Amino acid sequence: MYNIKNIMETLAEQKLDEIIDDLNCCSCEKCRTDIITYALNHLPPKYISTVCGKVFAESEILSDQYGADVITQLVQASNIVRVNPQHDAKVLSEHDM
Ligand SMILES: [Zn+2]
Repeated sequence: MYNIKNIMETLAEQKLDEIIDDLNCCSCEKCRTDIITYALNHLPPKYISTVCGKVFAESEILSDQYGADVITQLVQASNIVRVNPQHDAKVLSEHDM
């Protein structure tokens, strides 16, 4: 089954794992997700085709090409999340809405 996927999403997750220890930022799931979300909103999406969820070799090339951009955005995002972490923010349940 063929699918499309934004490879930047995968890249952002991979790169964050690599640099999270150096970011001096909370690494809870909420903050990690916020960092990735911010970074992805500031990066152009790069869609690739996948088969059965597996990406083709071109993703390696994209990683080399865009890895530095991804890291730049992740570092910026971590600066924002560090100052203004959202992990205690109230999550609205359907009941509240
Ligand atoms: Zn956190």
